[in-house]
Amino acid sequence: MKSKYNNLSQASSRRCNAKEATTDRLTFLNMISEAGIEFTAHLVDGCFILTPDEVFNYLEDPNLFAARKHGVTLEHWLAWKDFIEDPHCYAITKKGKPCRGWICGVGLEDFIPGVSEYCRVHQGYVYK
Ligand SMILES: [Zn+2]
Repeated sequence: MKSKYNNLSQASSRRCNAKEATTDRLTFLNMISEAGIEFTAHLVDGCFILTPDEVFNYLEDPNLFAARKHGVTLEHWLAWKDFIEDPHCYAITKKGKPCRGWICGVGLEDFIPGVSEYCRVHQGYVYK
């Protein structure tokens, strides 16, 4: 016997799979793409034009998509992304205050997690 909760459960399940790459959805995105409409993902380091296939990968996990697109690990991407959104030194000074020294010019490829987040004074050295 079906109850109204079974129907709710199915509806909820359908919503959860809204990002799933079905043949119908891919066909639709291909049709849009062939009409000249582009899919653009806006990431912290710029914009990426997505193919219809990539749209689903992006929707599944934008950070993992970005990491793969750049050829770095997810952890590397997330550390750099956190840093670049507020590029100040992470060190705590001897007085117990955040250094907050401005750090510029650290690209994703040059970023070394655990090192690049510190200014020249504090690089490799954290007061505890
Ligand atoms: Zn510093």
